[in-house]
Amino acid sequence: DKLGIALVGLGGYASGQLAPALLETKHCYLSGIVTGTPAKEKIWADKYSIPKKNIYNYDTFDKISSNPDIDIIYIVLPVALHKEFTIRAAKAGKHVICEKPMAVSVADCQEMISACKQADKLLSIGYRLHFEPYNQEMMRLGQQKVYGALKEIDCANGYTWGNNTTAWRLKKNLAGGGGLMDMGVYAIQGARYVTGEEPVFVTAREEKKRPELFKEVDETIYFTLEFPSGCIAQGISSYNMNINHLKVKAAKGDFELSEAYRYGGMAGKTPAGQMNFPQINQQAAQMDDFALCVKNGKPTRVPGEMGLKDMKVVEAIYRSIASGKKEPV
Ligand code: NAD
Repeated sequence: DKLGIALVGLGGYASGQLAPALLETKHCYLSGIVTGTPAKEKIWADKYSIPKKNIYNYDTFDKISSNPDIDIIYIVLPVALHKEFTIRAAKAGKHVICEKPMAVSVADCQEMISACKQADKLLSIGYRLHFEPYNQEMMRLGQQKVYGALKEIDCANGYTWGNNTTAWRLKKNLAGGGGLMDMGVYAIQGARYVTGEEPVFVTAREEKKRPELFKEVDETIYFTLEFPSGCIAQGISSYNMNINHLKVKAAKGDFELSEAYRYGGMAGKTPAGQMNFPQINQQAAQMDDFALCVKNGKPTRVPGEMGLKDMKVVEAIYRSIASGKKEPV
């Protein structure tokens, strides 16, 4: 039987990706919702056959503890709210999936991990690409050194921000940071999972083309990550460029994803030719894997500790921008 998932925060990602994916999952289903917008309750209840007793708002949220229909709570809120709701979910005795970036600081990540440990609940981060075949192939080629030692990585993720001037992503107190935390985490992840290493030094600089829009958060950041093996990653995060790739130069040949981090339409090549893997529903694969981890009492491959490691890199990048120098992670 399927485990029940409750989505917390019914915005773009929850409604556009996660809820539809939960119609395809084999080991879990959408059993509940938590929303601060009463008007969404009936729409979601009708669309996904959610009984009234499984609908909560942010005030009634903690009562979820006594609801056996809900095994897993999935936090899909603005970043600054991840910590509070992850901790409340753990205290309610539920397993947690929290969206990326995990939180606004390393310290918050640590508190979230501790809370879930204390409650003896699993915590995972919404890193869907660990379940995606093209990215899994990049992990294999890099970590197993199929084309020899890794020399250089070029990882970039960004899109051009439109005319929205009021979004939470522009506000430091809700987003924690800008393009780096929203888009850049994918590039940092890419460099980390291709090498299988943690970067030791970071150098970064910031660029703003629309400072009137990006008053509080970063627009574009160029960063360099130095790995213990000597591999260097050149990264870009941006709200001002449509970029989406993960390219690797190795001793015996290059391999890359030219479409690396999207929900679909992945594309890549190696010295052996074009990659050709199935395009899958990444969110369904990610949630099914977590449901199986919960059922079987197994660790998740995308735990809170992974989100924490990315935040350490993010904080080092911000430190380097502030100091103008190379910073240790
Ligand atoms: P969104 O703005 O579309 O949705 C956010 C939701 O939070 C809205 O329903 C909003 O009403 C609610 N909310 C509650 N309290 C709020 C407050 N104080 N201020 C503003 N909104 C509040 O955002 P989204 O794109 O769905 O992003 C939500 C989370 O999901 C973020 O952490 C984001 O990084 C993550 N995300 C992940 C992916 C992925 O591919 N893994 C993709 C998109 C978003």
